[in-house]
Amino acid sequence: MAGNLAAVRERIRAACAAVGRDPAEVTLVAVTKTYPASDVALLAEFGVRDVGENRDQEAAAKAQELAGLDIRWHFIGQLQRNKCRSVARYATVVQSVDSVRLALALDRATRAAIESAERVNPIEVLVQVSLDGDIARGGAKPFDPDSDTGLAAVLKAVSDAESLQLKGLMAVAPLDRPARDAFAQLRRIALDVCVGYPTATILSAGMSDDLEDAVASGATHLRVGSALLGARRYLG
Ligand SMILES: *Cc1c(COP(=O)(O)O)cnc(C)c1O
Repeated sequence: MAGNLAAVRERIRAACAAVGRDPAEVTLVAVTKTYPASDVALLAEFGVRDVGENRDQEAAAKAQELAGLDIRWHFIGQLQRNKCRSVARYATVVQSVDSVRLALALDRATRAAIESAERVNPIEVLVQVSLDGDIARGGAKPFDPDSDTGLAAVLKAVSDAESLQLKGLMAVAPLDRPARDAFAQLRRIALDVCVGYPTATILSAGMSDDLEDAVASGATHLRVGSALLGARRYLG
C-alpha cells in the first residue's frame, strides 16, 4: 500500500506540475469501499485522513470500529433518505446530494444528530452534478433548473438548510465521452456556481483512471480507490 500511495501522490504531483498547480490544493480521498477497516487504519498511519465510502452499512461499521482515529468520512454513494439518520452520525462530508428531497432529509437527520449530541458540526455537502443523461447514475441536472433534481434548486436547498454547509460540487465522469471533456464541462458549471455561492469552492472529480484530467480541470478533491488498494472484489 505504501508503494501505491507513493505512486498516486507522484501522479498528483506530476498532473499539478503539468498545469502549474500547487499539489497542496488537491486533497486525496481514499475510497475504501469493500476493503476492511484495517486498511483504513493503515492509510491513516500514512497520513491519509479523508476516506470515501459508498454504502451506509459498511461505512457505519468501519466508522464505529475506527472511532478513535481522526478520520474525515466522505459519503460518496447514492444515498437513500432513510439512511440519512445513520450517515449523519459519522459523515463529515456527503458528496452525493442530488435532489431537494434528499437535501431536506439530510438536513433534518443532521439536526436530529446534533440535538442528540451524536455530532457537533453541520454536514459539509457537495452537490453531485450529472454530466450525462443517465439518471440511474445520479446527479443533479445542470439544465433542469426547476425540478427536484435540478442543479439550481438543489444548490439553493443545501445553501438554505440550517444543518448543511454547501462546500462545492462532485461529479463522476460519464461512460459515453472522454473524461477530459466532461470535466471541462464540470469546470464551467463550477465557475458559474461560484458566482452565486462563493464559498462552494470544492470540486470533487477524478478517480484512479482519470485523476490527471480532473487535476487539469481544477479538481480540488480526487476520489481514488483501486490505484491505492488494488482491484475490488465484490462479494455477494
Ligand atoms: C468507487 C468510487 C470511486 C473510486 O473509484 P476507483 O476507480 O477505484 O478509483 C470514486 N468515486 C465514486 C463515486 C466511487 O463510487
